[in-house]
Amino acid sequence: MPSAKAMTPPADQEGGRDGPAPRTHAVRSAPSAVPRAPARIETDYLVVGAGAAGLAFADALIAASGADVVLAERRHGPGGHWNDAYPFVRLHQPSAFYGVNSRVLGSDSIDSAGPNAGFYQRATAAEICDYYQRVLEDLLASGQVRFFGMSDCARGGPDGCQLVSRLTGEATAVRVRRRVVDARYLEASIPATHTPAFGAEPGARLIPVNDLVRLAGSASGYTVIGGGKTAMDACIWLLDGGVPPEVIRWIRPRDAWLMDRAFQQPLDLVTWLIEGVSLSLEAAAQAEDVNDLFSRLETCGQLVRLDPAVEPTMYRCATVSQDELASLRRIENVVRLGRVVQIAPDRIVLAEGSIPTDGGQVHVDCSAAGLRLAPARPVFADGRITLQQIRTCQPTFNAALIGYVEASRHDDAEKNLLCPPNPYPDTATDWIPATCIAQRALATWLGDADLSAWMERARLNAARGVGEHLADPRMTSALARMFANAGPAVTKLETFRARPGHAHRRTSRS
Ligand SMILES: Cc1cc2nc3c(=O)[nH]c(=O)nc-3n(C[C@H](O)[C@H](O)[C@H](O)COP(=O)(O)OP(=O)(O)OC[C@H]3O[C@@H](n4cnc5c(N)ncnc54)[C@H](O)[C@@H]3O)c2cc1C
Repeated sequence: MPSAKAMTPPADQEGGRDGPAPRTHAVRSAPSAVPRAPARIETDYLVVGAGAAGLAFADALIAASGADVVLAERRHGPGGHWNDAYPFVRLHQPSAFYGVNSRVLGSDSIDSAGPNAGFYQRATAAEICDYYQRVLEDLLASGQVRFFGMSDCARGGPDGCQLVSRLTGEATAVRVRRRVVDARYLEASIPATHTPAFGAEPGARLIPVNDLVRLAGSASGYTVIGGGKTAMDACIWLLDGGVPPEVIRWIRPRDAWLMDRAFQQPLDLVTWLIEGVSLSLEAAAQAEDVNDLFSRLETCGQLVRLDPAVEPTMYRCATVSQDELASLRRIENVVRLGRVVQIAPDRIVLAEGSIPTDGGQVHVDCSAAGLRLAPARPVFADGRITLQQIRTCQPTFNAALIGYVEASRHDDAEKNLLCPPNPYPDTATDWIPATCIAQRALATWLGDADLSAWMERARLNAARGVGEHLADPRMTSALARMFANAGPAVTKLETFRARPGHAHRRTSRS
């Protein structure tokens, strides 16, 4: 049952001994020689982590309720990992369905030139950080949200939770009237903040991918380490910068199934998206076994791979265009000897062998996991919300949905029914449970008039606006294929899932 925005009573202001905390970024006084009891504040929701997920949740929650929210973030500003991203990263999906519901990211237009021509624009990291700064300003202006930057949220203090300033060490105790929202459960693991699992000896040149742009002078070659999207971005950036493909060596412990960006398009191009979903479901419904499933998904263009001769064992929702794929295929020196163990000045030791290297070679670390793998847990539990995926790899849509469900429903059992956790995929066969969970959730949402209406309004919903394309025969045929195959596909995938070995999960770096 939907709730009116005014349902939640106006939030108390803090009654701490230091008086009300500011509504803008929290600024505290310098440490004093005399120990003081921690300041105390109260709120309805303490959101831990002001990354993409925490912000999308808070935005959707306050749009549908009068709740008071404290956002706690250990970085200086909002936007999470995007603040430390490598300089040439872009969203791999269109900006049109990333961010928060209340503010457009970019201009919802289709690029007419450049490598993304024909597709909806994709924001750079700088654009995303600027966007999240504006989002934060909107949230603060609502009067419902306070932001504590440079603050670690830790357990402890008289009320169970406290914010500890990373600048002064001062603690602020937080009494949470409703829920603590864990928006860092799936915190991204990124090159700038991770430590590689291998070392480099003196004389061997190893750089994090972020430092590629700082190189000056020539290198005898580039060895890119990692099989995921970051490594692909690094390879494409080198190729676009004029580095010949034969000078690039790519250590790819695992090959990945990838998604074709053509089928990830919203708004005017949403027919492509629906067609893609319908083809995936048809492939699943008709598959005879798991091998046949992946063969069908590839034949209908819903999964693509870098090397037609190598069966991918990884699936992490990475998205590429056909142009990017063609570009990446120009790199023929691919090393498949498992993970790097150690880089010496003259050789690289890998799990399954060694290869020569030299002091002029730049080794580029792209081995951070990106998506964090964590076991599923109930999204809604007593006093706590844990933001997780529901629709596969749509972190901002999922966080906003959880925010809306929290504001509009009263019973945790119902909320958890609407928001089943769907762990990020890692291995190829994780495509199977991820698709099952997402399809079952979609069926539940479509049976709920209020939630369906919310989804149609939500800019983060990639599939919004389907009704505006019903005059297009491609759309009607895609919808017919989708509805005919959804049930049989889930049934078939559940049988594959039940077979031992097929739903095996590996927690590993790429
Ligand atoms: C390079 C890259 C590209 C990506 N591209 C896309 C894309 O195109 N589309 C897409 O949907 N997804 C993409 N993703 C997935 C990405 O993980 C999400 O889009 C999203 O940004 C993750 O947001 P998050 O809030 O879950 O995590 P984070 O951005 O990691 O935010 C978590 C925040 O919690 C804070 N925090 C942690 N612990 C504490 C604590 N104790 N106290 C206070 N604060 C704390 C951290 O400082 C951090 O800011 C990409 C990921 C990477 C790495």
